[in-house]
Amino acid sequence: MEIQEITEAIRRFRDERDWKQYHHPKDLAMALSIEAAEVLELFRFKSTSQIDTEMPKLKEALGHELADCLYFILLMASDCGIDMKQALEQKMAENAKKYPVELCRGKNLKYTEL
Ligand SMILES: [Mg+2]
Repeated sequence: MEIQEITEAIRRFRDERDWKQYHHPKDLAMALSIEAAEVLELFRFKSTSQIDTEMPKLKEALGHELADCLYFILLMASDCGIDMKQALEQKMAENAKKYPVELCRGKNLKYTEL
């Protein structure tokens, strides 16, 4: 499915349930933040090696939480009139300028420190 199709399916799911009344951009931003915290919760108190070992077991729950994040990202973008495909393409182009491969390959520095 393309982003537009996914967004339409999400909107249809929401609108069939008459939930738009609860979806001011402020509420959607809070929901997105909560879902992102649920991603973190899966890794809470675990070392990176534990996470690596347990990833096959965590994968399904992680997918669910990432899907919850995507749900709110696409819903909020749609409600705010943002074309996420265009926004992502624009952001990737900006990042490519900020982080030229020849300057940043293998380095984890912020672009201002390159
Ligand atoms: Mg969730």
